[in-house]
Amino acid sequence: MKQAELNMGIYVNGEWVKLAETIPVQNPATLETVGSVPDASAEWGKKAVDAAHEAFQSWSKTSAYERAALLERWHQVIESRLDEIALVMTLEQGKPLAEAKGEVQYANSYIKWYAEEAKRIYGETIPAVSVTKRILVQKQPVGVVAAVTPWNFPAAMIARKIAPALAAGCTTVAKPAEQTPLTALLLAECAQQAGIPAGVINIVTTSNAGELVDAWMEDARVKKITFTGSTPVGKLLMRKAADTVKKVSLELGGLAPFIVAEDANIHEAVKGLMLSKFRNAGQTCICANRIYVHEKVKEPFLEEFTKAVAALRVGNGTEAGVEIGPLIDERAVKKVQNQIDDAVSKGATLHGEPTLEGSTGYFLKPVVISDVTDDMLCMQEETFGPIAPVSTFTDDREVIERANRTPFGLAAYVFTQSLTRAFYYSENLEYGIVGVNDGAPSVAQAPFGGMKESGLGREGGHHGIEEYLEVKYVSLGLI
Ligand code: NAD
Repeated sequence: MKQAELNMGIYVNGEWVKLAETIPVQNPATLETVGSVPDASAEWGKKAVDAAHEAFQSWSKTSAYERAALLERWHQVIESRLDEIALVMTLEQGKPLAEAKGEVQYANSYIKWYAEEAKRIYGETIPAVSVTKRILVQKQPVGVVAAVTPWNFPAAMIARKIAPALAAGCTTVAKPAEQTPLTALLLAECAQQAGIPAGVINIVTTSNAGELVDAWMEDARVKKITFTGSTPVGKLLMRKAADTVKKVSLELGGLAPFIVAEDANIHEAVKGLMLSKFRNAGQTCICANRIYVHEKVKEPFLEEFTKAVAALRVGNGTEAGVEIGPLIDERAVKKVQNQIDDAVSKGATLHGEPTLEGSTGYFLKPVVISDVTDDMLCMQEETFGPIAPVSTFTDDREVIERANRTPFGLAAYVFTQSLTRAFYYSENLEYGIVGVNDGAPSVAQAPFGGMKESGLGREGGHHGIEEYLEVKYVSLGLI
């Protein structure tokens, strides 16, 4: 059944605004238009900052308990609209419905976590040298926060930024990716329904990201930029933040190594790899990109892994049982196909056939590529697609050195049954997140983020709220 189109407005100062210029939202599985959103100019970006700046005066003075209660209410409204939001996400982003539901719940777990963390923004008292002095450390919200998010996790990336910002007492202006704006706007609708005051959350959509976000970068009232997306855009925003010395948090690209040690439980390693590699058709920043299997276990590993990959069901994410949806657009399909062609031309072995016959959408069937070497494109650039390149190694130290030989440092995985190896790998891999015998490490209570060119700052855990807080030192004399 064809869904009715969802034509939404931008959300500025508590009002829903529709504009004459719109951006169509396309379903990557069918190439049909599923809705539209306003194509807002930078002027709307400025109006959003006006609203957030005004709202900050009161929101930053609410008690932590009031903010916690409103975030808790937002969590409940999202929970009550889970199926509707998940369906819209599948229609605009393509991921299977079960995954979309999982993402809404995951996004909502951050809102719940930060509702609770709002109450734990503790200060400190520090002993002074003189008995007539007191040293206090207070935490205060940084101010208006600008958030820019990608298309691969349309709910989670918004929630991971806005929930801690609001808990800290900040107000927000956000720009979701142009491919997947509807989910973000639905979350804002839920926030409004929950009673979060006008101006605290503002969402603006545009086809001209550079112009809109520049307006935020130049505005001294915006005190922080939090960005998730590609490394080149992250670097650009970091440079632009310098002029007004904004705080910066960046969650950027990855090139995750997935290492199967000689003593790994092969069945568990394959299960973990399937989870890590194929969620969202391989379009996740922490997904296994380079798979290194110890020479001794290559055969049993490849046998079980290629069977599991061949059994994956590809199709429209709204159909029951589908595990792999489409990629986001044609450019993504071409990039992945190019990596396959490059590997095969350099001598790699392809297990499976990537073309999905008779489909209109941006589909690619998952394939395993073995006999891969580190000079191939699939081992050097982020894939963001359902291909699994497998290389081999013979020595723990050698594979760590190969895994670290990249400017990226987001997530790494290792499967081993030895505690000594678990520590050796996790201590020597230059990555912000290391999954040891765990292919899905991301949870609200833990600090998610990258080292090196994969980012700055952390989202999640008690660490995540610190990104939205200033440290103020008060020295009290004459006591
Ligand atoms: P992208 O950088 O092209 O876009 C991300 C966002 O930035 C979008 O909202 C886009 O409109 C905006 N944008 C684009 N150009 C801009 C400009 N000049 N100025 C300001 N904003 C601009 O990335 P993408 O292709 O949408 O997302 C995929 C990338 O995101 C991958 O590299 C992936 O690894 C990364 N990612 C990282 C994480 C993480 O937590 N580290 C999570 C998800 C995705």
